Amino acid sequence: MTGQPKVLHYINGRFAEGEAGVYFRNINPFTNEPINEVAEGRKEDIDAAVRAAKQAFDGGPWRTMPVEKRLRYLFRIAELIETYADDIAYLEALDTGIPISQAKKQAARAAENFRFYAEMVKTRLVGEAYQVNGQFLNYTVYKPVGVAGLITPWNTPFMLETWKVAPALATGNTVVLKPAEWSPLTANKLAEIIDEAGLPAGVFNVVHGFGETAGAALVAHPDVRLISFTGETTTGMDIIRNSAATLKKTSMELGGKSPLIVFADADLEQALDAAVWGVFSLNGERCTANSRLLLEQSIYDEFVARLKERVDRIVIGDPMNPATELGPLIHRDHWERVNRYIEIARQEGASVYAPGVPKGLERGNFVPPTLLLNCRNDMKVAQEEIFGPVMAVMSFADEEEAIRLANDVKYGLAAYVWTSDMKRGHRVAQAIESGMAWVNSPNVRDLRIPFGGTKYSGIGREGGHYSFDFYTEVQVVHVAVGDPSIPPLGKAAPSSALSAERT
Ligand code: NAD
Repeated sequence: MTGQPKVLHYINGRFAEGEAGVYFRNINPFTNEPINEVAEGRKEDIDAAVRAAKQAFDGGPWRTMPVEKRLRYLFRIAELIETYADDIAYLEALDTGIPISQAKKQAARAAENFRFYAEMVKTRLVGEAYQVNGQFLNYTVYKPVGVAGLITPWNTPFMLETWKVAPALATGNTVVLKPAEWSPLTANKLAEIIDEAGLPAGVFNVVHGFGETAGAALVAHPDVRLISFTGETTTGMDIIRNSAATLKKTSMELGGKSPLIVFADADLEQALDAAVWGVFSLNGERCTANSRLLLEQSIYDEFVARLKERVDRIVIGDPMNPATELGPLIHRDHWERVNRYIEIARQEGASVYAPGVPKGLERGNFVPPTLLLNCRNDMKVAQEEIFGPVMAVMSFADEEEAIRLANDVKYGLAAYVWTSDMKRGHRVAQAIESGMAWVNSPNVRDLRIPFGGTKYSGIGREGGHYSFDFYTEVQVVHVAVGDPSIPPLGKAAPSSALSAERT
């Protein structure tokens, strides 16, 4: 073990081992040696966490305290994330293999999530009022939903956890977080930070463990009113099925196979920067990665030649080295899965281009940056999410074909268009079936805009005020301010026949 302490659950304001007292091993992706042990949550631990969260919700004071006071806790959490940013980045790099320089940026974004939602609740969580014919006033109020179940994946885990925790807490819900089993360290750090920020006991809880046990128990729990899920499409389908019996709200942020389209008139150097960054940063384990590159035929050879030069120079290495650009994949199982896809690409007739992994890194889960050249869009590797540093590259003849290829996939998360013809840029972006599209831009996202996908990439949008639709219930209050006439049922003079019958 590398000396990291055991990871415990955080339930009702206390760090606690699970009721069954069982642990699982957490593995370092750079060495494949154990980092430490993690409490393995079971149904009874989920029950305890939900009980604490429900008590904290029903009994207050979280949702009933002055909103300014509640939001001060969120600002405090943001400050503490910044104070511990180096520790968080270290733990994230240790646990996931994300290069430390990239993990640092993710920690900064996590702090921003808390500040942003605190500001949003103060300024944008507003209702509407309707005057109805001078007779009525109808107005809306937004209320927290109750106990929020948050289930997160192992890619950029800290950022994605805070992306859910911040709006859930800011709107007055209480939370049970079930982080991914392959990346528990920073979820534990978040619990420490929230503990230090002094939130009332039970408002925020973390139960570690596996999806099929801890995750499924959270989804099935009758006192959990909503599930915000980020992860694989098939898991999302299971969660929707399993949450039906207790009629929960669900938000689904799922997989992707996003196209990056480069027209011949584009700024090729910038398009190249964006294509390389978009699929090889974060070790390719990024939901919005441009894992399909569509190149206009006339620039295919030139662009691919330049792409190969870049790929050759990407610095592969120890995630703790600030110079590293590509680290090891999260887990041996995932490494095997990604390698299987590369083998399938060969069998399907793609030509695979990848530099070797430098000597001395054999123990880690390294996959070099890999180009699958001369792909056809109907190949498995052009259709299925690989979720590693692997990009399927293909060519198109004209705009119509580019759009057809871009849409000929079951996913619809992100899309990127590069062209100097702005009319075409807008036209193509809008023709693509995706929740988000970028034109002549890398994947930069403002927190005010909606985030989410269409087709098999998800249901619902989070981000900005869109998160309020999910994390709150809207209630309408109807008030009579005039003197409305009410049909006077039962006020008519009794007919003699009816009164005779009744007597
Ligand atoms: P995953 O679906 O395997 O696991 C995600 C989480 O769900 C984990 O915490 C896991 O324990 C839990 N889980 C698994 N089975 C469950 C069940 N039956 N009931 C309840 N919980 C269960 O996903 P992953 O491999 O951790 O993450 C990678 C996937 O996440 C990729 O497909 C990626 O595209 C997707 N992702 C999507 C977005 C987005 O915003 N659209 C963002 C990041 C990642």
